[in-house]
Amino acid sequence: MRQTKIIATVGPASIDTQILGGLVDAGADVLRINCSHVTTAVLAERIDLIRTVRPQAAILVDIQGPKLRYAGEAQTLVDGTEVTFAFSQLGLPDAADNSTAQLEPGQRVLLDDGRLEGSIVSVAKDAITVRVVRGGELRKNKGVNLPDTDVKGSVLSAKDRADLEVAKRTNVEFVAVSFVQRPSDVEEVRSILGPTAHIIAKIERPQALERIEDICRVSDGVMAARGDLGVELPFQVVPAAQHRIARTALRNGVISVCATEMLESMTSSSRATRAEVADVTGAVRDGFDAVMLSGETAVGANPVRAVEVMSAICEAAERDVTLPVIFADANPETAAVTAAASSLARRIGADALLSLTYTGYSARLLSACRPGSLIIAATPTESTARKLRLAWGVHPVVSPRDADVEVSIGAGLTAAREQALVKRGDKVVVCASRLSPRSDADTIWLHTEP
Ligand code: PGA
Ligand code: MN
Repeated sequence: MRQTKIIATVGPASIDTQILGGLVDAGADVLRINCSHVTTAVLAERIDLIRTVRPQAAILVDIQGPKLRYAGEAQTLVDGTEVTFAFSQLGLPDAADNSTAQLEPGQRVLLDDGRLEGSIVSVAKDAITVRVVRGGELRKNKGVNLPDTDVKGSVLSAKDRADLEVAKRTNVEFVAVSFVQRPSDVEEVRSILGPTAHIIAKIERPQALERIEDICRVSDGVMAARGDLGVELPFQVVPAAQHRIARTALRNGVISVCATEMLESMTSSSRATRAEVADVTGAVRDGFDAVMLSGETAVGANPVRAVEVMSAICEAAERDVTLPVIFADANPETAAVTAAASSLARRIGADALLSLTYTGYSARLLSACRPGSLIIAATPTESTARKLRLAWGVHPVVSPRDADVEVSIGAGLTAAREQALVKRGDKVVVCASRLSPRSDADTIWLHTEP
């Protein structure tokens, strides 16, 4: 059974009852809606449709954040010349607004996903003058990146706030935040959402990569957003950056996602390139919880096929990957019982671990230990089960919780049997807490399926 989870982005090519169902049935654990491409009203409609078509699927709402876009008229930039851009042309707030960027001479200005490049010569009250280093045709709406610039103020626009309200009201499982720079950006989103959705910080600015450890501490997960990260940093350093993101997340026991261009050629083709197969395999070896499909499933020729291919590559890659013990070594006290259960499962070659989990916390701890065997998480509510869909190796089942822990274990095993997650003769390591159903695990049982 596949351990690495799959996120599929829904878009014009997949927002259809049959295709949405096909994505989930082919193995998509989480469906992502990219707010950069939908209005707040359409976001709400799409969430409704997904909940109706596949209520067991988790939903990730990806908030656009301060993505800058060129708002001026089309023009040709000539190498070596100087061009003045008003802040408003670059999508920046005016200087009068105190949330302006800390622009300084010498900083780079990248346009059209890095195709064009300039260097700031001087900064005025509401405009910058740039010397063109790599010129070309600049068209309206092309992306603007300021890799060397710290942008002050909130990461959230008015539309972002409206989208967050929808995510909160509809109780989606995950919210991703784009262009996070610092831990306080995540905390700001948390204060709006409250304890509902898990928050995934998208690491796509060098400023965020520098603070990855601190960002992991305040987030439920992080995403290696390789598209913008590969514009703001030289693309050849992205593989090392994604490895660092995955390992830092694992050490901190938070979810990690590898995103963008994973099966890019499948946007128009029915087969993956060998390089793409190697890339997905690399993400599995890095230790990511999940891999993500963007355009492949949002605007691609065959979204369901892309999920099938992704799933097959992950399964093959997992067969020869054993991840080092990272989380348990870094958190000897927090992970004491879960790490013991995980290593016991390894030692006896268990077929499954069964975690009785109320909030999902102890199942996530087990997942972070990266045991070799399947983790069945028995939890009383559908919404906790959906939130566990992104955790590596976890297969959630919904089963009632009883004051008597043995009754709860029995209910969990019954639910696992019904979904064919365990079979006769299977060795199962059960991990639960007798003291309080809401605390971390404190007890381990060995069970053999009769
Ligand atoms: P995006 O984020 O698809 O919202 O741009 C992912 C990335 O930049 O890789
Ligand atoms: Mn991005």
